[in-house]
Amino acid sequence: MARYTGPKCKLCRREQQKLFLKGERCHTAKCPVEDGRQPPGQHGYPRGRPSDYSFRLREKQKTKRYYGLLEDQFRRFFNKAEKTRGDTGEKLLTLLERRLDNVMAVCGFAVSRSQGRQLVNHGHMQVNSRKNDVPSYIVEEGDVIRPAPKDNILEMVRENRESMQEETPAWLEVNDADMTVRVVRMPTREDVTL
Ligand code: SF4
Repeated sequence: MARYTGPKCKLCRREQQKLFLKGERCHTAKCPVEDGRQPPGQHGYPRGRPSDYSFRLREKQKTKRYYGLLEDQFRRFFNKAEKTRGDTGEKLLTLLERRLDNVMAVCGFAVSRSQGRQLVNHGHMQVNSRKNDVPSYIVEEGDVIRPAPKDNILEMVRENRESMQEETPAWLEVNDADMTVRVVRMPTREDVTL
């Protein structure tokens, strides 16, 4: 699956907000957003009041970049959200939050969404005891996710979990003894980390 391979910090600087794309470094003083660096490009901060269009564009780009998606992938999620009943924006965010690579990051099994995606892509994760190598898989209530029983993967996941700085969201339940995460309920807008 296609993915963005350019500099990640540049994306945060463009949005002038931390998008936590790099794992541990994002929590240190090395983060360029922390030291107030200007947006990329020779013109720096935009002048004047942003138009409605530019405001909406930036919000869309921010969401897309936060979840590590390209335009087409993001549009597919939007179309899916649009077809479900309720507020489209809210449905879109909760749908994105349920992606398997995002679950890996928010429960602390991976240090970032991109690492979560790589672990899934390489077949190191199981959903309901079956190998799942689809990062865009949408988790359902009751799903149980665990790393494949390989020593190096278990060790890596455990280390990631120990270094996690945020709290596990309430819609997920992590069992540190057997390294599993269970989806206890569907996420709501309040659970969305962005
Ligand atoms: Fe770079 Fe992370 Fe800071 Fe974003 S939050 S600018 S990815 S260090």
